[in-house]
Amino acid sequence: MLQNKAAVVTGAAKGIGFAIARTLVEHGARVVIADIDTAAADQAAKALGGESAAIAVGCDVTDPEAVAAAVRACTEAFGSLDVMVNNAGITRDATLRKMTEGDFDAVIAVHLKGAWLGTRAAAEVMREQGSGSIVNISSISGKVGMIGQTNYSSAKAGLVGLTKAAAKELAFRGVRVNAVQPGLIRTEMTAALREDIWNAKVAEVPMGRAGEPEEVANTVLFLASDLSSYTTGCVLEVAGGRFI
Ligand code: NAP
Repeated sequence: MLQNKAAVVTGAAKGIGFAIARTLVEHGARVVIADIDTAAADQAAKALGGESAAIAVGCDVTDPEAVAAAVRACTEAFGSLDVMVNNAGITRDATLRKMTEGDFDAVIAVHLKGAWLGTRAAAEVMREQGSGSIVNISSISGKVGMIGQTNYSSAKAGLVGLTKAAAKELAFRGVRVNAVQPGLIRTEMTAALREDIWNAKVAEVPMGRAGEPEEVANTVLFLASDLSSYTTGCVLEVAGGRFI
């Protein structure tokens, strides 16, 4: 589905980002693994088959130069940028009473500004190409708001606005921009949850289980490929029916 296509996936050294990179490679794309942890990104690229399939770039998505360099690495190594997945993320959960300004700023910077920088850098290439798909990884937290996540929920809701505004700006140049809102997905980020909190979250899911990173990756594949050729500015929930 992605033969001769090239992609950048941020935060792809592990978790959902790695599953996205692996799925894109399985469907023929060549991928830049852009992650703040350069050593882990290198390992991830090797695991995906090395240079013919994936290359690693150390990239802090809050740094405009680093994001531009990741996009450049893709066009230089693979000749185009067809898919940009803004996935990198962190959490700094705390209630309003305990959350510091630093916790707020860090989460907004990585998720919202990081995705804006990624969208801007990708759009520069894709606009000229006359084609491309940008996928922003939001969260169901941005739809409903979660206790202890005023920073994260704000950032993830902001990503929906970014996605829709960018979709409108770029549509006439053949560039589509969409968002995915995963629910509870089994990764290192959620492994940190206390068991009783994890169980309470699972109990909210009509499908009765957490999702796997590959299930998010398959939705990104749909949005990245021509299967979704008439879909832009759209938010797809991958949450087992939670909070519908
Ligand atoms: P994860 O396992 O923690 O992976 C996130 C990756 O992003 C890590 O490799 C991390 O590196 C990297 N990263 C962090 N800050 C970065 C930065 N400034 N620049 C570049 N890379 C950075 O998380 P995940 O669960 O796979 O989540 C991936 C995305 O899905 C996030 O946007 C998250 O908000 C979203 N999401 C996850 C869930 C879920 O249930 N897991 C649900 C909804 C949405 P370090 O480990 O070195 O920090």
